[in-house]
Amino acid sequence: MSGRSLLSSSVQYLKGVGPRRAERFARLEVRTGRDLLFHLPHRYEDATTVTPIASLEPGDEATVIGRIVSQGVLPTRKRLRIFRAVLRDDTGLIEAAWPGQPWLDRSLRKGDLLLASGPVRFFHGRQLQPREFTVLASGEEDGDGEGDDAAGERGGRVFPVYPATEGLSHRQIRGIVRENLTDLLREADERDPVPPEWREAMALPGLGVALRALHVPRSMHEVEPARRRVAFDELLFLQLLHARARHRLKRESRGIAHEAAADLTGLFLEGLPFRLTGAQARAWAEIRSDMERPERMYRLLQGDVGCGKTVVAAAALLRSVESGHQAALMAPTELLAEQHLRTLSELTADLGVEPVLVTGRLTPAQRRDRLESLAAGEIRLVVGTHALIQEDVAWHDLGLAVVDEQHRFGVEQRRLLRDASGAADMLVMSATPIPRSLALTLYGDLDLSVIDEMPPGRRPVVTGVRGPAAREAAFAFLREKIAEGRQAYVVYPLIEESEAVDARSATRMRDRLADRFPELRVELLHGRLSSEEKDAVMRRFLAGEAEILVATTVIEVGIDVPNATLMVIEDAERFGLAQLHQLRGRVGRGAEQSYCVAFHSGSGEPPERLAVFASTTNGFELARADLRLRGQGDLFGPEQHGVPALRHADLERDADLAAQARRRARELVAEDPGLGRPEHRGLARELAERHGDREGLYGVG
Ligand code: ADP
Ligand code: MG
Repeated sequence: MSGRSLLSSSVQYLKGVGPRRAERFARLEVRTGRDLLFHLPHRYEDATTVTPIASLEPGDEATVIGRIVSQGVLPTRKRLRIFRAVLRDDTGLIEAAWPGQPWLDRSLRKGDLLLASGPVRFFHGRQLQPREFTVLASGEEDGDGEGDDAAGERGGRVFPVYPATEGLSHRQIRGIVRENLTDLLREADERDPVPPEWREAMALPGLGVALRALHVPRSMHEVEPARRRVAFDELLFLQLLHARARHRLKRESRGIAHEAAADLTGLFLEGLPFRLTGAQARAWAEIRSDMERPERMYRLLQGDVGCGKTVVAAAALLRSVESGHQAALMAPTELLAEQHLRTLSELTADLGVEPVLVTGRLTPAQRRDRLESLAAGEIRLVVGTHALIQEDVAWHDLGLAVVDEQHRFGVEQRRLLRDASGAADMLVMSATPIPRSLALTLYGDLDLSVIDEMPPGRRPVVTGVRGPAAREAAFAFLREKIAEGRQAYVVYPLIEESEAVDARSATRMRDRLADRFPELRVELLHGRLSSEEKDAVMRRFLAGEAEILVATTVIEVGIDVPNATLMVIEDAERFGLAQLHQLRGRVGRGAEQSYCVAFHSGSGEPPERLAVFASTTNGFELARADLRLRGQGDLFGPEQHGVPALRHADLERDADLAAQARRRARELVAEDPGLGRPEHRGLARELAERHGDREGLYGVG
């Protein structure tokens, strides 16, 4: 390579750009030649099936390409204004009409080359009524050398459409890309970071070939394999980031090799009134084998509410205790910590291990006392909040930290917990089922155990989606259930971004319900309450001192009130599937049949996801549907997880690539952690190019 690199210099110096356009490109996050090369079309106009104008027949659905030879707006008697243009190709003329779109008269010009598709009708002759159209080249751009054959030197008939911005149209971008593509690609191809053996094994094209196909495809067939190549790169470099963080955790920090001294866990498992499900047994085997290894465990235990994660975690905690170490179980709130303590005390009752609680509710004297016992190693099993390993608690010998409900925690928080817990094995539990491909991507630095099976004999929550008309019936049902001694939740969505407004509307609803059910006690929970107030409200509800709990989504994070068997969700269309599922998970925790009524406020058809919600209680199924319906963009913002957003990979379509990327990244890092070998230099350079600024965050370097 000679002299300056086009890829790394400013886009301003590319042919046809200059300072003014460079500013506009910056709005599209395109700053360098490399950025331009990866500024990929978001769709294509496929003109490979263009019909010559002369052979169009009324009744056809057709795509044509023609130049505008004349145009104008035609008023009609019914005040409808129709934009009309006459299009011409080598074979003939046809009128195209856009009823009700007179403004097109300003955006289209005589001489523009148009690709238009839609039905051909008979209306004083043949008339095309375009449903879609794209300007392939505008009349005035002809001087730019784009010409009639806008697909450029490859002579293709597939037209890329680029994300554009004001003052920089997708056609201008197309022209600029075309002019510079050969020069940019020459460099990019030289640097293809992915080893040829991998490309071959995965049937992926080379980088240069892929980028060329994406910018100037000869046919639509070329596009998909090329997109997969670019998607794979994106996933691979993300996984390299994850793999290097994981490597550091496993190799560079000392871990604990737990061993089964007295087989406490064996006793524990035999003493349970049930047998582990297959999925639980698998998860436990994975955890056990990690714990036995001298490296640190860093594992995610994922499974729907009630699938039996806590039981598996208890086995792990006991294994740590019996091998002579301390073990900790941590929850996001004090109330949840207390709940865990109760569960754990029951589970371990006959085993001579007394779990001890450490939360902010202790008196200062109690707290001091317990922290001393912790430091002295007298306390073997402790339950508390996350603060337990974030504050300067001195451990005698922490062997295992189990962290509950971590689904909202990003890379950064995970790193803090990891660093604060010394050599301890880490088990992170999440009750938010997400598709495997998404889990691999968000939590690529963790190993993954999934419990995808419910204990036998569970009664699924009976779920109904109802319109406003069913309100009376639902309230009658609510009254009936409460008369039977049950309790109910009524949940409202966050209406505004503001908690104040949110609190007001929840308060209004509480008052309305209180008016309606004067004989019942109605409690209110919203985001404006302090955590002590929230805690007190939940305690009263748990103790049965209220029949109805009106809440905003703060209720999501998992408290267990077995007597609550009815969940009413208002304005359900405002919730995402995952949230709806979490809310429903609040009921169905006792022996009684539970119910969930999701009200949608509209009079029309409820959104599809509500139907999906009612159709299954399987969290993983819902998660997959969510990915399909919403797309990944909504499912994880980079700000939420600290993971860079994916621009090209589609975790639903590219689930196989996500798995491949992780496997290969881990193998590679195991072999050559520093990516220092000559054959890995391209990978190292590309990793630095993409994520150089992130490695610190991930705890690498
Ligand atoms: P999670 O922590 O995943 O929400 P838990 O571990 O709290 O689930 O289990 C929920 C309930 O199911 C508990 O009452 C637990 O005792 C019970 N349970 C767990 N595993 C099984 C099993 N294999 N068979 C029957 N019941 C089980
Ligand atoms: Mg639990």
